[in-house]
Amino acid sequence: MTERLVAGSPQGDDAAESGLRPHRLQEYVGQEKVKENLGIAMDAAKRRGEPLDHLLLYGPPGLGKTTLAHIVAAEMGASIRVTTGPAIERAGDVASLLTQLQASDILFVDEVHRLPRAAEEILYPALEDFSLSWVMGRGLSAQNINLRVEPFTLIGATTRYAMLSAPLRDRFGSVYRLDYYDADDMERIVRRSARILKVAIDDDGASAIASRSRGTPRVANRLLRRVRDYAQVRADGSIDGATAEHALDLLEVDVLGLDEIDRRVLGAIAEKFDGGPVGLETIAASVGEESDTIMDVYEPFLMQLGFLSRTPRGRVVTRRGYEHLGLAYPDRLASNQAALWPPEPS
Ligand code: ADP
Repeated sequence: MTERLVAGSPQGDDAAESGLRPHRLQEYVGQEKVKENLGIAMDAAKRRGEPLDHLLLYGPPGLGKTTLAHIVAAEMGASIRVTTGPAIERAGDVASLLTQLQASDILFVDEVHRLPRAAEEILYPALEDFSLSWVMGRGLSAQNINLRVEPFTLIGATTRYAMLSAPLRDRFGSVYRLDYYDADDMERIVRRSARILKVAIDDDGASAIASRSRGTPRVANRLLRRVRDYAQVRADGSIDGATAEHALDLLEVDVLGLDEIDRRVLGAIAEKFDGGPVGLETIAASVGEESDTIMDVYEPFLMQLGFLSRTPRGRVVTRRGYEHLGLAYPDRLASNQAALWPPEPS
């Protein structure tokens, strides 16, 4: 995937961001319902002296799933072990991960929908009653191995809830969906990060960055760092509305946080395919991106803005999408709207 300033997934210099990560539930901005439910679940588990139930977090990249997993570990006073679905290749990998855990530790598996089937199957009994059993070797030398592991909490994170197998989904005691943050929360996140980075920012500056950050904290932090560079070089180092807007215009992030690739996706559907409906593969080929990337990264935000809708016959640019591109909405689509209803569930 190309490097993108407004991508929710980690890019280039985002590692510099680790100091911006909230460490306690109280510092974690927004997602009030998730915080409240999680807070109650953690208190109850602590009172019972048990590990927290397995937990699944899902939502688009950059919304705070990894951050929340680390917060749970801190709040529970537990250690956390971090890995990803595709890194666990064989049943033996699961066994070696789980046997290293101490009682009440947390195992965080990012991209949990990409766990290989063989690994998933040995995980099931471990999730249920902390027992492991698998066959090592082949043929005559095959050996049955049975082990007990310490009670632990699995925290899975995914951008693709629908791709999780049903048996794995069923083994999570709670499932929380993270949503894009609203304007107020985004401003709070920008102000909080600016405070940590020790850069002065006024309300207009915070709101300009917040509104172009696609409701995604990771994007807000990245844009803030770029605007800070601009403010240091072209202004007096502090960020006001005009400075933020000039910097972001220069970076070609528009007022809603769309960048060139978003506009290309929308523009391709509008101009090459008369507004749609058009299939995902066709869009992917015409803008030169993977169809998975379009589905996970570009579409959710374009749909959230109401610029794009998924219909049973393909993707369609909406009237608002046309307006944002500065193009006239075709009469044909206006009269077809009813025929395209209802939209396909996402
Ligand atoms: P994900 O795992 O969902 O891709 P992360 O947890 O890595 O996202 O979050 C990306 C960055 O965004 C973090 O480094 C953190 O600084 C910031 N962030 C995420 N959620 C919040 C939040 N609720 N409040 C403040 N900052 C946040």
